[in-house]
Amino acid sequence: MSSTSPPNPPRTALRSLDDALAELLRHAQPLSGVQHVSTFDADGRVLAADLASPLNVPGHHNSAMDGYALRVADVPQAGVVLPQSQRVPAGSAAQPLAAGSVARIFTGAPIPAGADAVLMQEDTTVVSAPDESPPRVQIHRVPKPGQWIRRAGEDVALGQVALQRGQRLGPAHLGLAASLGAATLPVAPQVRVAMFSTGDELVMPGAIAPADMPAGAIYNSNRFFLRTLLQRLGCVVTDLGIVPDQRQATIDALAAASAAHDLILTSGGVSVGEEDHIKPAVQALGSLDLWSIAIKPGKPFAYGQIARPGPANGGCHFIGLPGNPVSSFVTFCVLVRPFVLALQGAADLDVARIALRADFDWPKPDKRREFLRARRNASGGLDLFANQSSGVLTSMAWGDVLVDNPPGQAIARGDAVRAIALSELLS
Ligand code: AMP
Ligand code: MG
Repeated sequence: MSSTSPPNPPRTALRSLDDALAELLRHAQPLSGVQHVSTFDADGRVLAADLASPLNVPGHHNSAMDGYALRVADVPQAGVVLPQSQRVPAGSAAQPLAAGSVARIFTGAPIPAGADAVLMQEDTTVVSAPDESPPRVQIHRVPKPGQWIRRAGEDVALGQVALQRGQRLGPAHLGLAASLGAATLPVAPQVRVAMFSTGDELVMPGAIAPADMPAGAIYNSNRFFLRTLLQRLGCVVTDLGIVPDQRQATIDALAAASAAHDLILTSGGVSVGEEDHIKPAVQALGSLDLWSIAIKPGKPFAYGQIARPGPANGGCHFIGLPGNPVSSFVTFCVLVRPFVLALQGAADLDVARIALRADFDWPKPDKRREFLRARRNASGGLDLFANQSSGVLTSMAWGDVLVDNPPGQAIARGDAVRAIALSELLS
């Protein structure tokens, strides 16, 4: 036993998840600086400034159909025959529409001045001979004013803020930005995260064959999902591997990582047993709050700051996750994810809760708020994974939602429960 470990570790008071998250977010001041990246490379990044449109989109009234642009007043009834006075393909300029005529027009082509409707070609017949000029077109349907015309600026008006600062960018946002002519976008800096796992029982897949695993050894699974989760949030990850369960090794790893990272994320070793070195190591280098969070799975969670050498450098954030894989995964989703997004100045840190029908019974709820692994079934309800233990990673892989179950809430088959789609948490 190490000499500084208390013989009877003090029980830390249980905190609600909402309190813990609020406190965590108080520390998550957005990183300073702006990067300008190609719009192609901005997927998953957070927009650092409002994007106001320098033009109307579309830039001109244009046709939504292949057909004929005309004046509604020229077609008092079906059957009217009108001459075609011009042809307007997409990408060309249109002449004003001569009175009593139609303009052959194609999707995306500008509407000639004077035309107030487009008739789709299916509602017309060319009645002239093939060599007759100009061609004549019979109209089979009386058009309504404005039909099949896309108005200039109907998507985005000149000067309108099309995308707001804090928007996390996805494919649709990149397309919208490109439609405004943006070849590059100002985005928040990527969060530089150093991560390591603690635990002398951990073995990397590939290092020892399954048949040769010594008693007590387990493969390091947390490292794989934590790294991937961070990368999906746009972080630049330095993976420091496995740090031995020793005080000095833990201190050395933390001190080295603090210089050039915004956040150090660890898994395991945040309890207060004598093999848990995270707490004293972070305290030796800065400050640490160890929280027992009233969620299941979850519970031990640490937030701290590690002082950086040199003046005015600020501290490096530290987050310690529990070692149990499902606890580690869930606490990442509900605490680390919003924290990392907040460091990037993201506006939307939360995820939607959807009401779904439970097709299961959960008669013995915990007094802590639970995040139950469940899966949507073909009839629109939810099935529950049978083993909800915090060590059973199969539940995370099998499930596609987390049921966010309030403390002490029993669930009976048919009840509506609040669920979070894992796809939202993993993006
Ligand atoms: P700890 O939080 O270090 O007390 O670990 C709690 C439980 O999680 C123990 O059963 C550990 O073996 C397990 N564990 C810790 N780290 C990992 C990891 N990286 N991958 C898989 N299991 C882990
Ligand atoms: Mg451990």
